[in-house]
Amino acid sequence: TKPSPFLNPGQTTKAGSLAIVHLSRDNLVPAILDDTVGEVNGYAEGTVINTRFGSFPHSTLIGQPWGSQIRASVVDTGSRGRKRKVRDDTDEPSNDTEEAASAKKPATAASGFVHVLPPTPEIWTMSLPHRTQVVYTPDYSYILHRIRARPGMRIIEAGAGSGSFTHASVRAVYNGYPTAAEDRKGKVYSFEFNEARFQAMEREVKAHDLSDLVQITHRDVYNDGFLVNGESPEADCVFLDLPAPWKALPHLSRHRPATEAVNGQDQPWVSPLRSDRAVHLCTFSPCIEQVTRTVDAMRRLGWMEIEMVEVAHKRIGVLRERVGLNMPGDRGSNQSPYDVAEAVNRLREVEGRFKEFHGRNQKAAKSANDDDVDMNDSVEASAAETNGAGREAAAEPPSDNAPSVPSFMMGRLVHRTEPEIKTHTSYLVFAVLPQEWTEEQEAAAFEKWPCGK
Ligand code: SAM
Repeated sequence: TKPSPFLNPGQTTKAGSLAIVHLSRDNLVPAILDDTVGEVNGYAEGTVINTRFGSFPHSTLIGQPWGSQIRASVVDTGSRGRKRKVRDDTDEPSNDTEEAASAKKPATAASGFVHVLPPTPEIWTMSLPHRTQVVYTPDYSYILHRIRARPGMRIIEAGAGSGSFTHASVRAVYNGYPTAAEDRKGKVYSFEFNEARFQAMEREVKAHDLSDLVQITHRDVYNDGFLVNGESPEADCVFLDLPAPWKALPHLSRHRPATEAVNGQDQPWVSPLRSDRAVHLCTFSPCIEQVTRTVDAMRRLGWMEIEMVEVAHKRIGVLRERVGLNMPGDRGSNQSPYDVAEAVNRLREVEGRFKEFHGRNQKAAKSANDDDVDMNDSVEASAAETNGAGREAAAEPPSDNAPSVPSFMMGRLVHRTEPEIKTHTSYLVFAVLPQEWTEEQEAAAFEKWPCGK
């Protein structure tokens, strides 16, 4: 089997494999890189991603080291009858400076750039096609830690929904391909009863080369439980993101529950859980009424250490406030001389980088459309010009007593906290089903540690 780009991305992007095209912090586009040449959806270049930063034929994204910056290409969309774009990601407004600069250019011109990133569960959560509500990183990182998901474990997950949790959990349990007979291969057993979502998940799992590690089953788990082809997944941990977890819990028992009606009453009971270890479970429910019903069922079914947690995630932004480029005496300026020294320093740095790119030719340096201009540089340079501290001022050597501040230390260090917690996601209910000891296990344990002898 091909290694999954989520687990072993290798050094470079590959044709036929998933890559994440990073337009800006909040705008990420997943793409299976397609090396088909010839006319595809109206483009002679093959598949093209169209963005507000320009057009990116897949051919320019393939075989690149992960993290590379990729320049836009000029692609011909007009002469072939304006056929539909393969992807158009121009819908989301953004405040990024580089976006603002790039946005001025027409979509088909070679104007901006993107970065090509390897997929990770975190990036996938930010970019995946939403079919349902999803579990986000702050919740799933805590959940996976609490249910003790680690390499070699088997996880039951229901419902699969949009696969956000699935991707995080497969990375948590992945332990390569163990060769030793006693090593278990980590695996995710995922269940989804909505047919369209099940099929979409199946396609995704295959496209992401995870088929070997994620077993997706089309199933109503309330009625039909968690066995796969009649066999036990031998799960170490369980995550239920379902509207009524208490309806699924009777199937997650070591014995046929006496108090619950479960299917296959006449069949011998097969538990989907691992028998020789404690099993850790988490349910994820937005309403407190769901929690009380779930906890009630857990108590009746022998689950212990029941605890409810809510992850209240708050983002704290730590940044350096950029120094304005106004000069003292300019209208609205209240800068200290220290700020001025910083500003001059900054301008000198920008100037230096400009010269590096364009030699000493002033004319070429002023051309913001020049293909070789780094977008960030041109934004900063033009900001300097429009802020009134012209190039001449920048070229002026600063006075001897001006402090020299490295660029990463410029500006004031500030941190800003989100004023309040934005959204309640869900209540997490954790519980443990203890290991049950058979007579044989007791005897074997006594043999191993004969503390009484
Ligand atoms: N955890 C998922 C993620 O991170 O993308 C989202 C899960 S979504 C909120 C809940 C899913 O449970 C839905 O896709 C729904 O179809 C599925 N579901 C609801 N009842 C079910 C049942 N009885 N058996 C299996 N799946 C069920």
